[in-house]
Amino acid sequence: VSVRRAAAVNAARLSGVATRALGRGGGTALPGLVATTLDPGVIADLAAQLVNGVTVVTGTNGKTTTCRILADLLRAAGYRPLRNQSGSNLSRGLASTLIRETGLLGNLAPDDKRIGLFEVDEAALPQVLREVKPARLTLLNLFRDQLDRYGEVATVSSLWKQAIRDLPEVTRLVANADDPLVVDVAMEHGGETVYFGLGSGAKDEEPDYARDVKTCPKCGGEIAYSAIILGHLGHYHCSRCDFRRPEPRVAAISVERHGLDGSNFDLVLEGEIVPVRVPLPGTYNVYNAVAAAATAWSMGVSGATIRDGLARTTPAFGRMERVMVDGREVYLALAKNPAGLNQVVRTLKGLSPSLHVLVLLNDLTADGRDVSWIWDADVEILQGHLESAVFGGTRGFDMALRFKYAGFERAGSEWPVVSSLEDALRVAIAGVPDGHPLFVIPTYTAMLQFRELLTREGHTQPYWDQ
Ligand SMILES: [Zn+2]
Repeated sequence: VSVRRAAAVNAARLSGVATRALGRGGGTALPGLVATTLDPGVIADLAAQLVNGVTVVTGTNGKTTTCRILADLLRAAGYRPLRNQSGSNLSRGLASTLIRETGLLGNLAPDDKRIGLFEVDEAALPQVLREVKPARLTLLNLFRDQLDRYGEVATVSSLWKQAIRDLPEVTRLVANADDPLVVDVAMEHGGETVYFGLGSGAKDEEPDYARDVKTCPKCGGEIAYSAIILGHLGHYHCSRCDFRRPEPRVAAISVERHGLDGSNFDLVLEGEIVPVRVPLPGTYNVYNAVAAAATAWSMGVSGATIRDGLARTTPAFGRMERVMVDGREVYLALAKNPAGLNQVVRTLKGLSPSLHVLVLLNDLTADGRDVSWIWDADVEILQGHLESAVFGGTRGFDMALRFKYAGFERAGSEWPVVSSLEDALRVAIAGVPDGHPLFVIPTYTAMLQFRELLTREGHTQPYWDQ
């Protein structure tokens, strides 16, 4: 087995070097594919060599940012987090990550500070749990994602339930109390669950109508909300049975939002109250921060360390990340499903009365081929705030139509749909007056292509270097 392991790991490493040398992206998935093909037990064995265990984070939205924040908290606590890269969240991506840490014999070099921190695709969760046997599992949320990719939330929910039932009791579950679908899943766990949530005052001013949950997951009765915070996340109870939001042990209360500068809130850690600042915009980032804080706290990280780590955190790749293009501020805000797009438009609305946007809609496999989800997002709330818009991507015309039906029209002519990304960026920037930012709203593959364009033009570093 050890000869096989060493051969698999070294072949994998070589394939990563080769893809990078050929300029074919970050070489993030191929090494894992090579290694798991040559040696199917490689992930389980290498993960078991992590002395501080593995934390797995999953959910439809916020995985990358939550892992990024959690990595900051763990570093502040003296750990060295070993993270998979954004987008490499299937088991071959995890294998690639582990292999980078191995020596020539195919084992991890000893390191008592190293800790595994893996973001995992919702649909890949059951397989990953079987392989890595995490010490901690954090469940963020369950929204409807691209339809043709995973099917409806009910399918993912039943996959998760089976996986949670198979978890050993010692696995610490950290779960979002505000998401009835997550709570329904978490109740399948035989061991301890640490719930996190937001205070009722954190609710968005604009109600979000793209709710995925209208009935009780236990009995099918009507779910009543005393506070809707974001999508179907909030304070709820079933009108028929005793299913209700569990009281969270870790919570964000008195949330104050300060536009792009982020939010301030009081972090409740089971009785201890720590005032914190998170320099990331939007209510969804308050959720990401609280999820990361709850996970760190469940591992014994102190309130003061969590406070310091949160203050130092920075946006994840494409999540309201700022780049300068020809002296102009350009923000990238990934939106890959209705809930994500709703959060982006809400955040933008709170930032400026005159917004300039470039919306890039792709329908490649990683985005989901079906783009009908754009009709479930309420872009209408930008009414009175949208100054200019340019559309691009493989389905730019669909998005332009969506905005047209939402009532946005430029006097006299249509807003432009530009097929080449280079030209779309140029046209968009030309429409932005001096001193105003441009907000780019891409789907997943559009974001990768857009980042590639920025890198080519010398505005950012390639993503695998970050
Ligand atoms: Zn019920």
